[in-house]
Amino acid sequence: MDQRLADLRDVLIAAETAEGDVAREQKKAEADVEQVVNRANRDRQLLASGRGSAKDLENLQHELDTLARRQSDLEDVVLEVMERMETAQARVAEMSAQRDEAQSRRDEIGAAVAAAQGGIDAEAAKLTGERATTSGTIPEDLLALYERVRESSGGIGAAAIRQRRCEGCRLELDISEVNAIKAAAPDQVVRHEECGRILVRVPDSGL
Ligand SMILES: [Zn+2]
Repeated sequence: MDQRLADLRDVLIAAETAEGDVAREQKKAEADVEQVVNRANRDRQLLASGRGSAKDLENLQHELDTLARRQSDLEDVVLEVMERMETAQARVAEMSAQRDEAQSRRDEIGAAVAAAQGGIDAEAAKLTGERATTSGTIPEDLLALYERVRESSGGIGAAAIRQRRCEGCRLELDISEVNAIKAAAPDQVVRHEECGRILVRVPDSGL
């Protein structure tokens, strides 16, 4: 997204530069026309004044004809440049709109990521608090055992038994293990022989 935005910014700058070039061309073409018109006006005034020889007046008339043709040609140039100007302006408008769209899309994604991050941070803070509260109620030696097992068992130190299956490693307990757990006192810590995790007896343990 950042790359697309950067690309669009470059394209927009190029379009604006092209627009500026055509604008200068247009100004130049219009100035050329103006110059010819001014010259023709001056010639017409001289002609109207009737001053000068017949030859001079003839020359002036000649020049006026030439200037008229030149003005027509230059006006064609102005029209052609104006058409290119319209194209250049349309391109700038189009690229500017695309850039704005990409920018707002990028802003939306940024806001969504920030919101999600905020949610994750809040959830992590809540769980950290809950863990601290819970661990405060557990005997120190059991907590130490739990931490040790957790470290060596991929982050899961204790697992429920459900339908005689260890929820930590998903293996079924064998019958002698089931019997041993059945015989154990409710507050005795039992562990899965297979994975070493602390086993938690729950209503659907199947014991
Ligand atoms: Zn297990």
